[in-house]
Amino acid sequence: MAQPFPFSAIVGQDEMKTALLLAAIDPSIGGVLVFGDRGTGKSTAVRALAALLPKMRVVVGCHYGCDPNVPRAFCDACREHAAKGDMKSRMMPVPVIDLPLGATEDRVVGALDLELALTRGEKAFEPGLLARAHRGFLYIDEVNLLEDHLVDLLLDVAASGENVVEREGLSVRHPARFVLVGSGNPEEGELRPQLLDRFGLSVEVKTPEDLPTRIDVVRRRDIYERDPAAFVEKWKRKDGQLRRKITAAKERLPQVEVSDKALERAAELCIALGTDGLRGELTLMRAARALAAFEGEDAVSDMHLRRIAPPALRHRLRRNVLDDAGSGVRVDRALEEIFGA
Ligand SMILES: [Zn+2]
Repeated sequence: MAQPFPFSAIVGQDEMKTALLLAAIDPSIGGVLVFGDRGTGKSTAVRALAALLPKMRVVVGCHYGCDPNVPRAFCDACREHAAKGDMKSRMMPVPVIDLPLGATEDRVVGALDLELALTRGEKAFEPGLLARAHRGFLYIDEVNLLEDHLVDLLLDVAASGENVVEREGLSVRHPARFVLVGSGNPEEGELRPQLLDRFGLSVEVKTPEDLPTRIDVVRRRDIYERDPAAFVEKWKRKDGQLRRKITAAKERLPQVEVSDKALERAAELCIALGTDGLRGELTLMRAARALAAFEGEDAVSDMHLRRIAPPALRHRLRRNVLDDAGSGVRVDRALEEIFGA
């Protein structure tokens, strides 16, 4: 497989890059929804980010890529191996698993072989895509065309970090912690609002309209495709800096302070926008905290809230028949009202 395009070499698309970085720093932010034209590098960005992240240590032979250093999250097989004291580990790249549109539920969650279970009394489980995505990314192109019940299921697993498969009284559970990234073209069908709201962040990507940016994009792509190895080598230092910044942010995250004042601001913003429930505030707080950690700061400031409010809130606004301004515009107006121009 050719080496992925380096994350730092992606031209523009700052909002998408930031959203993906924050979700990688704190997966509890929830998935990222990327809306936009075809050919705007959505899938490239996810693959580039995964390739940039430090390799992960996994238990040899484990279907779920358990982390040997986190025994409390072990699958059943790893628990048994650990008890016997025979456990080897190896390093592997952070996975990016594609979920194809036609995938059956069995292929996604895994399949329980009932016949084998009944005839031989063995629990035979064929792990699915969710098992492979553990500790990495699950990417769905055109998520708006996926059946609602599958999207629902994916969001459940992503939120709980565990996949439970139940058939006829048999059940298998295994860890499945991943960042869900869904891309979609709004012209080809919309996601139900109930599903929209369960994604942490949403970003819009557009084909760049200014000349210098377009030229940059095309030039870099061309150089990369002619010699991927040399191009990756050229960007190695920049990618390395970013990798260290992400690692440092993950370590810093538990110490970043979110003051009452910051929570008050977040609540005011959500009230002004009339978002349903408290999910908006929760996401806004987590994303602002991850952003502060990424920038090496100790506390969430107005600036962090302000920067992250559009991707955290714009997909949670109810349609307002009296106000036909786009949701981005409405978030901007509320921000100005609360934080000042
Ligand atoms: Zn395991």
